[in-house]
Amino acid sequence: MTTADHASPFYVTLKRALELRGTCVEDICPPDDQVARRVLHDYGAMFIGADDILPPPLCVFSSEEEVARFQKAAGHTAATIGDAVIELQPAAMSALLKARAAALAEGLDITPRDGAEAARRSHADTVRLWNSRFLPALDHWLMVERLSQTQAERLHSLPVNEQVPEVLELEKEGIFFSKDLSKSVLYSIAAPGTSQHIAMLAFDANEFADQRVREILARHGWFQTVLSDLPHFTFLGLAEAELPRRGLRRVEVDGQTFWIPDVT
Ligand SMILES: [Zn+2]
Repeated sequence: MTTADHASPFYVTLKRALELRGTCVEDICPPDDQVARRVLHDYGAMFIGADDILPPPLCVFSSEEEVARFQKAAGHTAATIGDAVIELQPAAMSALLKARAAALAEGLDITPRDGAEAARRSHADTVRLWNSRFLPALDHWLMVERLSQTQAERLHSLPVNEQVPEVLELEKEGIFFSKDLSKSVLYSIAAPGTSQHIAMLAFDANEFADQRVREILARHGWFQTVLSDLPHFTFLGLAEAELPRRGLRRVEVDGQTFWIPDVT
C-alpha cells in the first residue's frame, strides 16, 4: 500500500475504526493482495459505518465456513417483503423496514430485486453470481477472438479465487467481464467471497431509479456506495452529513449520489 493511500481521508478513518475493534488494515486486507485492495476501495464504505453494525473481519472470505462464522457473530433477522424472505444485520433490517414504512406512507414502495438474493448471500451465492458473469463473458471474448482457446480453457480451469486477479488484468486491456461487457465485472457483481451482501449490510431495491425512494433510504442510513451498481444500497447507519467525516467522497453520476471511499 502506498503512503498516499494511508494519508487519504478513507484510510485515516478506517485505521481508527479498525483500531477500536483491535485490528488493522493489514490484517483485513493484505497489502500485496491486489484483489483485496480493489475490494477495499470499491466496497469499503461498509467498514466505516455506525457502531451497531459489524463489518467483515476480512476483505475477501475464502470459504463458506469463514462466512458462516462471521454471519453468526454479526447476527441477522429475517423479514418478508412481497414473496421474498430477506435477511440483514438487525440494525440494517430495522432501518430498512422503517424506510419502507415511510415510502408506503408516501404512496411509494421499497422491494427486493431478484428475491432473497437482494439481501444476505452465502459464499456459494457469490460464486454462482461470479460464474453468471464470468462464463458468458469468457464465451464472448473467445468468440470474437480476443482470447484464444488455450487462454479461455486455462482461465476456466483455475480455482475461482485465482480467476479474479486474472480477470482484472484482462480488464485493463478492455476485455471486460460485466454483464454488458462494457465495464469491470466488479461493477456488475462482487468477486467471490467479497460482497457487502455477505456482510448482510446491502439491499438491492427495485425502486432505485426513484429519487424520492433514494432520499427516504438515505434518511434511514442506506446509501449507494458502489459506483455503477445502481440498485445496490449499503447500510451505514449514519446521517448523510456525517459521511465526509468518515472518509467518504460524494460522487454524482446521472443525477444519483454515491458515497465512495475517498482514497485519492
Ligand atoms: Zn447488491
